[in-house]
Amino acid sequence: MNMVGHSIDIVNLAKRFDRTQVLRRIDLHIREGEFLTLLGPSGCGKSTLLRLLAGFETCTDGRILIGGRDVAPLPPKARNIAMVFQSYALYPHMTVRANMAVPLEMSRLSFQQRLPGAALLSSKVRSIRSDITAEVSTVAKQLGLEPLLERKPAQLSGGQRQRVAVGRALVRHPSVFLMDEPLSNLDAKLRQQLREEIVDLHRRTGITFIYVTHDQTEAMAMSDRIAVMEGGEIRQCAAPEEIYDRPEFLSVARFVGTTAINEMQATIKEGVVSVNGRLLRLRLAGIADGTYQLAVRPERLCPAEDGASDFSLPVLQIEFTGNEVGVRCNGAEIGAGTVRVQLRPDSFAQLRQGRNVGERIPLSIAEGAALIFDSAGRRLTALQM
Ligand code: ADP
Ligand code: MG
Repeated sequence: MNMVGHSIDIVNLAKRFDRTQVLRRIDLHIREGEFLTLLGPSGCGKSTLLRLLAGFETCTDGRILIGGRDVAPLPPKARNIAMVFQSYALYPHMTVRANMAVPLEMSRLSFQQRLPGAALLSSKVRSIRSDITAEVSTVAKQLGLEPLLERKPAQLSGGQRQRVAVGRALVRHPSVFLMDEPLSNLDAKLRQQLREEIVDLHRRTGITFIYVTHDQTEAMAMSDRIAVMEGGEIRQCAAPEEIYDRPEFLSVARFVGTTAINEMQATIKEGVVSVNGRLLRLRLAGIADGTYQLAVRPERLCPAEDGASDFSLPVLQIEFTGNEVGVRCNGAEIGAGTVRVQLRPDSFAQLRQGRNVGERIPLSIAEGAALIFDSAGRRLTALQM
């Protein structure tokens, strides 16, 4: 499947429905063949952005260029974009084969030529139809759909339906593939499997993928870059590691990560950091004296030797999940709510030695792990001394 992926430039894009401003000032450059995910809570404008790209909506302001070409005058059909939705939208009365042929028939045959019996009268129609059949077979083979071709959607599992929907979108050799929460109707195991299939499909086709989800795990696992959206704006667009380790906003830090990031109010005075009156070992340069929000990922809060800890907290609960151990602590003493610590089972076994719920665990913030946010929720770049 050698296809070409196009770049996409979104420039100062805005969309308003009546009085609701749904998207504001979206600027985004998507590289040829990139896998970019739009991640954000429900209602933040992800689907609207996809629909603008596909041409189902028109923007209020700004421009979209696909492969360097302004697409404003182009109807959806002329944009060479394929879209797959959460609901598979397959025609229930048609076989998989017929479903997959629909996009090609729509683009290559006129209304009259699509009428039943037209192929009997016209050799041209017969030849177009046999090309379509061959192309459907090729894509079906590549996606492993051949055994399903004569079935109807009701005879398929959820995962199979989603594969057919992908196949149907691919038959037109799009240069951009838009997927709007395609896995949210499926159970967890199947979701993981299809996630891998989609990444694999992206690698094999070389098409530009724009994937929409509200599931941060999916976004982290699949994407070259993630654009985190909030209230119709892109808060940050970067590689998954960057989003996770260096979130530009506290809201982004909260949105990504399987276990919630730990937050506490911190006072900084001449570079010395304290939480609830307790001095931390941390020294920061370049931050004005004041009160800030300090955030630390659960796996960067580490058990410490008794003398070398930042604070010790009472353990509320210990959760063993196989590949890791979650320790939930009461953070009241440091002016925080629940504090969560994520450990590998082996380091937990070492630490355990008689420690149990109700006892205290000494903790230290790993080097470089403290994220400092101002009152507007924007991260400050601090130099650790
Ligand atoms: P998401 O896909 O991130 O959940 P949407 O793009 O579907 O968000 O919607 C963003 C906002 O725009 C929502 O508040 C929604 O109610 C509003 N919206 C979407 N489509 C329309 C429309 N056709 N008319 C009016 N409001 C709309
Ligand atoms: Mg949506």
